[in-house]
Amino acid sequence: MNDTIEIITCPACGKEMHKLYMQESGTSLDVCLDGCGGIFFDGQEIKHFDENSENIEELKKAVANRTFEKTDESKTRICPVCGNNMVKNHVSVKYEITIDECYNCGAKFFDHGELTKMRNQYATEEERRQDLLSSTYNETGAKIDALEMQHNINLVKRSKFLKLLDKIFLGY
Ligand SMILES: [Zn+2]
Ligand SMILES: [Zn+2]
Repeated sequence: MNDTIEIITCPACGKEMHKLYMQESGTSLDVCLDGCGGIFFDGQEIKHFDENSENIEELKKAVANRTFEKTDESKTRICPVCGNNMVKNHVSVKYEITIDECYNCGAKFFDHGELTKMRNQYATEEERRQDLLSSTYNETGAKIDALEMQHNINLVKRSKFLKLLDKIFLGY
């Protein structure tokens, strides 16, 4: 999905968002400068800004020395682009940061400060991927262990059962 051209209202506080042109990526971000300080990313826009090495100087300048309203982060938010309910999601397996995502158009909303926090979680995309992989491995590994244990219990039960049959039919 392309950049939205029209002014959108902030899904968290309802104020009009500002278009902020980001030189390096050539995209425009929607930032809630007059309200809560949240940032709205269209489609896959976030890809340009989630790594710490990627440039967000314009954004940092724009939010510097401003105070922002607090919002209720537990509220369900509505995607200002397509009107769908946004879904709360963790940005990584570290579970520290919850953002709002629109599953319909792919937009993402970060509350003030969340983007910086996310960028500081991992130095590179590769580190983020590794963390995801190892945590998936740990979870799946635990499940496999549990299955194996059940399987062993079944084997023991089965051999006891067979012994019982032997007793009944063969009189051992
Ligand atoms: Zn806002
Ligand atoms: Zn949407």
